[in-house]
Amino acid sequence: MTRVANFNPGPAALPLSALELARDELLDFEGSGMSILEHSHRGAVYMKVHDEAMALFREHARVPADFEILFLQGGASQQFAVVPMNLLHPGQSADYALTGVWAEKAFAEAKNVGTVRKAADTGTDGKYTRVPTQEELNLDPKAAYFHYTTNNTVMGTQYHYAPDTGNVVQVLDMSSDVLSYPLNWSKVGLVYAGAQKNIGPTGITVVIVRKDLIASGRKDIPVIFRYATHAKEQSLYNTIPTFGVYLIRNTLRWIAAQGGVMALKKTNGEKARLIYAAIDESAGFYRGPVEVASRSEMNVVWNLHTPELEAAFLKDAEARGLAGLKGHRIVGGLRASIYNAVPLADVQKLVTFMNEFRETHS
Ligand SMILES: *Cc1c(COP(=O)(O)O)cnc(C)c1O
Repeated sequence: MTRVANFNPGPAALPLSALELARDELLDFEGSGMSILEHSHRGAVYMKVHDEAMALFREHARVPADFEILFLQGGASQQFAVVPMNLLHPGQSADYALTGVWAEKAFAEAKNVGTVRKAADTGTDGKYTRVPTQEELNLDPKAAYFHYTTNNTVMGTQYHYAPDTGNVVQVLDMSSDVLSYPLNWSKVGLVYAGAQKNIGPTGITVVIVRKDLIASGRKDIPVIFRYATHAKEQSLYNTIPTFGVYLIRNTLRWIAAQGGVMALKKTNGEKARLIYAAIDESAGFYRGPVEVASRSEMNVVWNLHTPELEAAFLKDAEARGLAGLKGHRIVGGLRASIYNAVPLADVQKLVTFMNEFRETHS
């Protein structure tokens, strides 16, 4: 068996131990005589897995007691609509910071639900090469909430400060950097994240929402879209993707074994530092478009001088067992997604290859 170094943007690398455990337990889950895939989502065997996944998530993301954790479906993209459906009441307006394609989609979808306003836009030059500074945030003190994308997966930018929005509650799309550093929850009303980048497999979106916002959520929307419905039923209102929850449990067990989020943050910082150094020390052979203060520790993007050279880089990388390095189709270039589960050793292999490729082509 040969496993490659996987730099896919999502679905992305999973911890090897999480996959191995799934393989070992697949046919007969904990002596129950059937696979976890075959158990009722309301039975005791599955419920134990469900509760462990929830508890481990609460522990490692340090979710305060006044927040509910929900496991929902429809991806982060569905939350672009469901957040305003629940939190944006008639007569109110919500603020959005536009920093990339996902933030644009969240803004556009909220516009279908109610009144929205741009509190920042770093893409007016068409580039989104940075996130806004605190000073640039043009905030409405009466806004229903302030929405921002903590890590811009496609553009390769990330906030390295917690925006201050006064009394306005914050909604964070953390799809691509959740669980990679400890979050300060004091200004947060809601966090959502598709699981397929830093939490586990596809199929589940984790939504962490303050209980008072659930209680005051709009009632004039379909039952299935109300956070209150899912909070009341512990995310078992309808049939949950049970195998996804099981793999989230396995991934969170791995996070615990690594020493938790603080330990991951340290390794993530080292991984990112190695790749940015390879770019910065390449005498212009590799070029990173992102402003240094906004550089992402999860998605590192860079370019070579010609599309032909980028194609050659990708081809040689594949041959060396380095997969998933093609940039997003909208921006092109190259991108290494180095989420929690990507080992430091795989990043070291990538950097060695980058240096060798530069030497043979410059
Ligand atoms: C991947 C991603 C999304 C979209 O996630 P889906 O689960 O495919 O809907 C939204 N926001 C960010 C920041 C992402 O990285």
